[in-house]
Amino acid sequence: MPTNETEARPPGQGAGLPKDAHGSDVTTSIRRYPAVYASLYAPAGRRRMWWLTLRCPHCRAGHFGRVPSEAAAGGVRRTPCGRRVWVVVARVYRPEGAQ
Ligand SMILES: [Zn+2]
Repeated sequence: MPTNETEARPPGQGAGLPKDAHGSDVTTSIRRYPAVYASLYAPAGRRRMWWLTLRCPHCRAGHFGRVPSEAAAGGVRRTPCGRRVWVVVARVYRPEGAQ
């Protein structure tokens, strides 16, 4: 009986997107655009819009945008340099005390 259990399980099925039998069309269509991680800033003070910052994979510049809601931040978005990216909200900054 082998007692050496140090060998890790080979990475295979865990990598990449989860394979979902249902509704995978949306995921594959979004995947046509490069994913970019963005920071989202909640409305503060008199602002009503959420602010969005991201590092553009096309032109390497930082882009800035406004969205009406937190839910509207993710997904395909057109950047000021004329390309499209798939925004993934990586961080959300909220005012202190707000939930
Ligand atoms: Zn750009």
